[in-house]
Amino acid sequence: MTLAPAKVPICRENEVCAVGKTAIGPQSSPPVRVPTPEQLETIERQNAILEKASAEEILAWAVESYFPRFTMATGLGPEGCAIISMLAKIEPRVYIFNLDTGYQFSETLELRDRIAEKYGIVVDLQKPELSVDSYEAAHGGPIYQTDPDKCCFDRKVRVLQRVSRDFDAWATGIRRDQSPTRADTPIVRWDKKFGLVKISPLAAWTKNDVWKRIMDEKVPYNPLHDRGYPSIGCRPCTRAVTQGEDERAGRWTGTAKTECGLHTASD
Ligand code: SF4
Repeated sequence: MTLAPAKVPICRENEVCAVGKTAIGPQSSPPVRVPTPEQLETIERQNAILEKASAEEILAWAVESYFPRFTMATGLGPEGCAIISMLAKIEPRVYIFNLDTGYQFSETLELRDRIAEKYGIVVDLQKPELSVDSYEAAHGGPIYQTDPDKCCFDRKVRVLQRVSRDFDAWATGIRRDQSPTRADTPIVRWDKKFGLVKISPLAAWTKNDVWKRIMDEKVPYNPLHDRGYPSIGCRPCTRAVTQGEDERAGRWTGTAKTECGLHTASD
């Protein structure tokens, strides 16, 4: 399948776009770019074409269209590791980073070393402004139990907002069958929250597809998956699941929260 790259420039922050609006975000957040109607039309058209493409074809298209302003954020879950194994063959210089909240499992950070060893790809750690100690001191202790939305916003969303300013497009490992909130994930869409083209090459994949790739290609993965953790986030907000439970049931147990704020459908 041959896919034409999207040759559509993205409006930079503080520029006046063709629609006549200066790209400025909410007051408390960094400026966010806004697309022109033509850009949105191109994205929709590409999305329709890419719906039938393989994950490798989608990534090759993303690289051709946006590299070096193409990035990927990963929590080093099985999907992210599968994508890294593809990018290692397509374009290993793509900037890949992890939102290092300071609360991650040691197994997750060790996986980063194994990825570097196997593919020569160093997943960069992007950290929040405040260390865990300073953050907890400023809030009178950890707030992941009392206000996990704020904790995720400060330690994940803000960090991605900061990183996104240097890129035009980002890849994620989300799949439609992971949860009802992800069921309508398009392959390509405009991400309003971060002012980037958002590309989900595994949107149409199943969990079995991901694990087949990992086993076939001997892709390094987090050993916690073999101990009952299908979805792994920060240590205080992740538990093992029991048989029959939803694969994301172990995230933020006991709260109504289901997403960290990076992948909200309305954005
Ligand atoms: Fe904080 Fe938990 Fe969100 Fe991690 S997952 S940033 S610890 S609320």
